[in-house]
Amino acid sequence: MVRALRAIHKRYSYKHDHAWEAARVASEYERSERTHVYIGDWHTHPNASSGRLSGTDKRSLRTVLGSQEARLRRTLMVVLFGTSTEWQPDIWAAELGRASIWNWRRSLLIEPVLLRRYT
Ligand SMILES: [Zn+2]
Repeated sequence: MVRALRAIHKRYSYKHDHAWEAARVASEYERSERTHVYIGDWHTHPNASSGRLSGTDKRSLRTVLGSQEARLRRTLMVVLFGTSTEWQPDIWAAELGRASIWNWRRSLLIEPVLLRRYT
């Protein structure tokens, strides 16, 4: 049995419920017979003029990339910014750089991604 979601939603912040989200991702993975996989997530920046990543967003990306269960070398983060009548997406791809003796904490490499629709 999956317990109830304990995430905290506020207008300008969101605290993840990692255990609940991981259970949902695992459940969907099994239900789809291992064809649906987690590649990233999305959230909104209300009343913002861009989808620039916040410090919290970057920490979240680092957490996902460091997660054994996510098994991702690269992840996506979609930020919808604007107002409730007009949202625009900014999409980011992130991965961890190489560690070295000078850079023991792997750098977070982030680049913008274009969304292309194929019909
Ligand atoms: Zn954000």
